[in-house]
Amino acid sequence: MRNEPLLLTPGPLTTSLTVKQAMLRDWGSWDSDFNQITAAICQQLLAVANAVDTHVCVPMQGSGTFAVEATLATLLSPQSKTLVLMNGAYGQRAARILQGLGHETVLLDMGDYLPPDPEEVALRLAADPQISHVVLIHCETSSGILNPLEAIAAVVAAAGRELIIDSMSAFGALPVDAQQLPFAALISSANKCFEGVPGFGFVLVRKTLLEQCKGRCASLSLDLYDQWHYLQKTGQWRFTPPTHVVAAFYQALREYHAEGGQPGRLARYQRNRDRLVSGMRELGFVTLLDDAWLSPIIITFLSPDDPAFSFSAFYQAMKQRGVLIYPGKLTEVESFRLGCIGQLHDAEINQVLAAVAESCQALALSSPEICLER
Ligand SMILES: *Cc1c(COP(=O)(O)O)cnc(C)c1O
Repeated sequence: MRNEPLLLTPGPLTTSLTVKQAMLRDWGSWDSDFNQITAAICQQLLAVANAVDTHVCVPMQGSGTFAVEATLATLLSPQSKTLVLMNGAYGQRAARILQGLGHETVLLDMGDYLPPDPEEVALRLAADPQISHVVLIHCETSSGILNPLEAIAAVVAAAGRELIIDSMSAFGALPVDAQQLPFAALISSANKCFEGVPGFGFVLVRKTLLEQCKGRCASLSLDLYDQWHYLQKTGQWRFTPPTHVVAAFYQALREYHAEGGQPGRLARYQRNRDRLVSGMRELGFVTLLDDAWLSPIIITFLSPDDPAFSFSAFYQAMKQRGVLIYPGKLTEVESFRLGCIGQLHDAEINQVLAAVAESCQALALSSPEICLER
């Protein structure tokens, strides 16, 4: 019996015991043993995206947002103009960062859960030659929608513009091939599909592009060019690295490869999604998105239309049964989210579904087929 809750959250998430155990020793941040771990991690991450020959991997301390901000602050010049494809909180966050940097930004705002249409993106780019960059959120974790990355990347490349991908919650599980899908930068972090613990993000950047970015970033700590340059020169992170987190990530990568890498991980997450969705639908819950847009990362369920339901009561009932769920992040409708990622296998999904059924009863929702009629 585990003495900690299952995290049905999209990072931090449930990690393996062996990943946690990898943190039970100390590392010198200057030491060559630690430097080798950093180098191996970066090489492996590049290989996952088939980007070894074209891109470099730069790790950045902090949560994923620090890596997004470092990327935008380092790659974009003051003359840049960026189109942000926005359909949720993380698109909004990227736009906020750009506005804070004082860079010209235009939005294609699809609201809470509609995907951006590649044809419309093509039209926007054709109509405005000043747009130099496009930002896309790969999986918009706030609704769980899987955005059409391949189609968007194709129109951005055809228009001769640069693509920056926030693939925070998707990279590692969803396939990305840098030789087929051109991108300037792809951003992700330790505590999502690679199933590490939180503490750093990383960016795969096209090498020829990063080479041009010396001195551009106004922030000292977020300067991705400097971080890369120093790493290349010394093998070390510029400032104190999260040593234990990095060691845990190295172990997480081992387990990732043992599971069959990206295809293996995707298969398990898809199975988790399919079992969660069908089990929840049997209980009467309704997904926000049509099946075609449901990602194998996280799923948004509409809150039951029953006065007996409140998110906080449901959360507490689930917590008592050992499962931490995630609040919704939609502006229009009440919802909650269940993650498919992390160390969740059939037994854990069964536990989650049983906890949901019991929690519905504990809240005395009108019937377990609660939540239908809407
Ligand atoms: C998790 C996540 C981030 C980063 O969030 P942090 O809280 O800073 O780690 C950014 N974009 C997406 C799509 C995410 O899922």
